[in-house]
Amino acid sequence: MRIIDLSLAIEPNEHDPMTTTIEWIDHGTGGDMLGRPAGLDRSAFPDSLGLSLEIVHTTTHVGTHVDAPAHYGPLCEGRPARTIDELPLEWFFADGVVIDCRDPSFGDTIGPAELETKLAAIGHQLSPGEIVLLMTGADRLWGTAEYFRKFRGVGREGTAWLVEAGIRVIGIDTFGFDPPFETMLAAYKASGRREFLWPSHIYGREREYCQIERLANLDAIPVPYGFKVVCFPIKVQRAGAGWSRVVAIVS
Ligand SMILES: [Zn+2]
Repeated sequence: MRIIDLSLAIEPNEHDPMTTTIEWIDHGTGGDMLGRPAGLDRSAFPDSLGLSLEIVHTTTHVGTHVDAPAHYGPLCEGRPARTIDELPLEWFFADGVVIDCRDPSFGDTIGPAELETKLAAIGHQLSPGEIVLLMTGADRLWGTAEYFRKFRGVGREGTAWLVEAGIRVIGIDTFGFDPPFETMLAAYKASGRREFLWPSHIYGREREYCQIERLANLDAIPVPYGFKVVCFPIKVQRAGAGWSRVVAIVS
């Protein structure tokens, strides 16, 4: 059995529109903090060292994370949209399929024709409940300004095609699941049509699905299917997303 890490860390990045700060508190300072309620400081601890800790200030949408229906809107399928802590865990431990979307010849947006063609090429038919991972190769740019601005996103039609095939969890190795913000904004400004803004996310108000954003290392999975994906989201109370240490398990 091999376990392949498909996750990016939660870490500060100067180009990330979502600011993350991590305060690393060392063992000495941690000892002062722990001892304070009892009137002690670090000198009371063995070796004058207490316990370290980190204080993280960030959003639920940094690092590799799972978006829940509640992120997309207050309602989904006419009912209150489920938050990340309310979703069935069965969704997040299932057979995986990698679809290679690194070839840009299908255009900027990933749609049904590309998905159908690529699945036929690997000889796989989707089964309900599988976790589909879309590999664009954008994770190679992680940390650069380009990572946040230039990537292939999924269109509403592509998302609907997968969800209608019974897929509940769709992952991608880009900053966001939809096309880049600048692309959506330009299309919206040119047409005035609001359906250009976050079309896949907004589709999630009609049909329930989760997306994993900011995956990495999908090219390290040696087979396009026949492996398991584990992507349990961290249980953040009433949250629209949760961080996840996503892995592929190959036997
Ligand atoms: Zn997100």
